[in-house]
Amino acid sequence: MAKKVILSGMRPTGRMHVGHLAGVLTNWVRLQDEYECYYEIADWHALTDDPKKAKEVEANVMGMVRDWLAVGIDPRKAVIFRQSYVPEHAELHLLFSMLVSVPRLLRNPTFKEKLAELRKRKGYTKMVLKVDRLSVEDELEQILRFIREEDERKALRMLQSVLNRVRDEVLERITTEVALDEAAIPAEVSYGLLGYPVLQAADILLYKGEVVPVGADQLPHLELTREIARDFNRTYAPIFPIPEPLLTETPKILGTDGRKMSKSYGNAIFLSDPPEVIERKVRSSITDPMKVRRNDPGRPEVCPIFHMHKVFNAEEAPQIEEDCRAGKLGCVACKGRLARVLIERLTPIRERAESFTDEEILDVIREGSARAKEVAERTMGEVREAVFGREGIGSHTDS
Ligand code: SF4
Repeated sequence: MAKKVILSGMRPTGRMHVGHLAGVLTNWVRLQDEYECYYEIADWHALTDDPKKAKEVEANVMGMVRDWLAVGIDPRKAVIFRQSYVPEHAELHLLFSMLVSVPRLLRNPTFKEKLAELRKRKGYTKMVLKVDRLSVEDELEQILRFIREEDERKALRMLQSVLNRVRDEVLERITTEVALDEAAIPAEVSYGLLGYPVLQAADILLYKGEVVPVGADQLPHLELTREIARDFNRTYAPIFPIPEPLLTETPKILGTDGRKMSKSYGNAIFLSDPPEVIERKVRSSITDPMKVRRNDPGRPEVCPIFHMHKVFNAEEAPQIEEDCRAGKLGCVACKGRLARVLIERLTPIRERAESFTDEEILDVIREGSARAKEVAERTMGEVREAVFGREGIGSHTDS
């Protein structure tokens, strides 16, 4: 039986950290044996919130793929490709963009989050609309009186006047709210950022992805891809599968400062960190702030060190949790144990990463992208025929 097609990707943000290893990469290594996997270097996506990042992308691509290979992503099993080397992504994105409404994109949860972040950064505050309360009670009383007095003409005239005022108030309110909403979108929000999930849909459907590994919080993004696939199939021809989510549990890995682990926060432990750097980072990590002395009982659930124990030291984690809560384990010793475990786990990965030459990595990307392009061209052939008919294909090829 043919293997199902999986599409998954990452923006090239640079070297991978232990959060990536626990959240995505370990899963990718497992999936490549069970599915036909396409792993995308999403370099166009990397520009959606800051087009000036283009210069960083080159170096980041190399570092990221170096780490992918080092953890065991195997280019003989999975297709590792670079999005911008397969321009069919852009063509399909364009055609899909006609099938999605702007209000639908404005409702996308990721866009809303980014918008909220930007608004906060720019100091936008929520504007409260003050619409005067309608003073209709008296008039309604009068209408009732006219009805009781059987003066139908007066009742109708007054009712007409009330309805007109209500209509004017509602219309003014709607217009003002729309204007305020538009004004509250900062100028930094590009079309590319808004259209990000449409490009994502093109990424998945270009390879006829049937399965997409997602965390529960990413389900709304996949829903948009499914909507686009259905809409395309209905409008033109049934070409695309409706991709199913493969729900993956993403272990919680916090950075050494307790925030989400991220290169940009400077709180990450990288797969490429040498032992002394791992030790230093673990030693300087925050723990439970309520556990001041060694014998104080701790709260492992708020401690980044414990979250890493749970993932990378699963066997010992239950005992560590118990001892921490009982005040039998001090943070210095606990961190020492984690540093040892991480060094043991990451050293072979770092050494393997260092063993690849730049040329070998470039070859993997070029070969993977060529394989991806073959599939993408085939899909786009079908898409062009579905949209424009045979004539459309001819004129495209001739041009
Ligand atoms: S003992 Fe370990 S798990 Fe408990 S607070 Fe300290 S570092 Fe965290």
